[in-house]
Amino acid sequence: MSKLPNESIDERIKRLHSNGVIDLHFDLPMDLYEKRNRPDVLGSHYLPEFEAGDIGVVGAAIYIEDRYMPELGLRVGLDQIARLYAEVEKTDRFAICKTYQEIVNARAAGKIAILITMEGVEPLGDDLNLLRVFYELGLRAACLTHARRNAAGSGGIFAASGSPRDGLTAFGRDLVRECERIGVILDLAHINPRGFEDIIGLTSKPLIVSHTNVRKFYDIERNISDEQIKAVGQRGGVVGVNAILVSADAKKSTIDHYVDHIEHVIGLIGIDGVGIGFDFCEYLFHQLPKEIIEEIASKLTTPHFIPDLTNHTHARNLTRKLIERGFDDDEIEKILFRNWMRIFEKLL
Ligand SMILES: [Zn+2]
Repeated sequence: MSKLPNESIDERIKRLHSNGVIDLHFDLPMDLYEKRNRPDVLGSHYLPEFEAGDIGVVGAAIYIEDRYMPELGLRVGLDQIARLYAEVEKTDRFAICKTYQEIVNARAAGKIAILITMEGVEPLGDDLNLLRVFYELGLRAACLTHARRNAAGSGGIFAASGSPRDGLTAFGRDLVRECERIGVILDLAHINPRGFEDIIGLTSKPLIVSHTNVRKFYDIERNISDEQIKAVGQRGGVVGVNAILVSADAKKSTIDHYVDHIEHVIGLIGIDGVGIGFDFCEYLFHQLPKEIIEEIASKLTTPHFIPDLTNHTHARNLTRKLIERGFDDDEIEKILFRNWMRIFEKLL
């Protein structure tokens, strides 16, 4: 099905967003933690943005900045979850969800569902018992690493080659098996190429990449190759497309090129294999001190934000672009929410 008779493009976008857009990667807990002395950041700053973009489910990623490592990894990880619960409690507009059914119920009640995820397992140190603790607190998806090495494995670097060649550690391998067993979705975002292969070999259930771009358009080992995309597709997994590493060239960092990434994934593994993982962090990035921005640029990369796709209020711009590019309603609904929901239904 496509456009309804007499339906304007805005009405069509509204209809396509009626189930809520799913963004599976957002560094929300980190910001709530940094602003722990300024209560109600979630309700006053983020809620209006989510509502303007019709966001229905958010993957809220626990991430530990370098300055807290190694001593404070666990403490800051726990504190981020504590802030998330405290902020959610202040409004009736959110629900932290641990199962597929809880997500469905939250949406039916008009609430924004939050799924707790982890970007780098630094809070666990090398203690497998702590996975269970975070699971009980709501952790439901995890990438083993960010760019740096940790007790589980090594991240892919922001260059075309040169990531550490080693795969997962013994701890990383145990962790992967235990995630699959207890029901923490394994997220292949950021892991180095050898670690990616290891995770594929250790698991049998669907795998996801919550937020990435395709190496065809931005060739760095932090992004994923065609072979890796196919491996995720063969498992019935989903690749979430990231809005901040669309191109090495600022001029090519456009919504159109974002859609090129979506189309590339679809070309390799079909319409069921792609979703959204915006990784919006312009707001977070610009509030960092200048020295930290310079440090990120030297250690990682300078992200090129897409001017009309920098935060959740812009979600409708993407849907408008998908319509312009000829996607039909069924395809748009799969990209915006149905593919991620399928993963939740199967794994949570
Ligand atoms: Zn990331």
